[in-house]
Amino acid sequence: MNTKMIVLMGGQGVGKGTQAKKLIADNGFKYVEAGAILRSLPKESPVAQIMARGELVPDEDLFKIIGDAIQKVGQKDMIVDGFPRTIGQAQWLVKQYATNYNIHVIYLTVPKQIMLDRIQNRIKENMANGGTARADDLDVKVVERRINNFFTVTGPAIEWLRTANGIQFSEVDVSEFEFENNYAKVCNALKTRQK
Ligand code: AMP
Repeated sequence: MNTKMIVLMGGQGVGKGTQAKKLIADNGFKYVEAGAILRSLPKESPVAQIMARGELVPDEDLFKIIGDAIQKVGQKDMIVDGFPRTIGQAQWLVKQYATNYNIHVIYLTVPKQIMLDRIQNRIKENMANGGTARADDLDVKVVERRINNFFTVTGPAIEWLRTANGIQFSEVDVSEFEFENNYAKVCNALKTRQK
């Protein structure tokens, strides 16, 4: 049971995607990105409308979507980004996968103000690269709702995972300005057995 499942958790704009991309480039991990899979669904689907409001998509939808994506990857080292976000999702993930994968939750933390700053940077970068900014990043109220959900709904899921049996859990402060410093901390956490 040596197949790794690295689960990246953290608030909006914390840099999960950027950390994931570098980990993938360096290690060749497969990637299951909840937000990107959900964004690829048709714009008129109920899920897209829930996302536009900055609310969480129901657990049952995520179980199907993430279950299919993990099954597609199979028994290969992977990063799961943006899932779980609720206690129900966290318990489901451990129940379904802790037997066949070596699950290591990496909880990336920054103060709320840095989340807001990094979302602004993401908007600028997306536009500078000739693309369009994410609609859910542009509306201040939607951003506020997403961050609020992170603290009130995902927070308890993180606390449950912190002491859950059969998985590894590390909290990593990634509030340094230099990405490389934050990345080094993530790599260190991945090398260390916490419990
Ligand atoms: P993200 O790209 O991770 O910021 O996700 C964008 C949006 O997708 C979120 O604001 C939610 O509406 C939805 N979403 C992503 N992951 C989940 C999840 N695990 N549970 C529920 N909703 C999710």
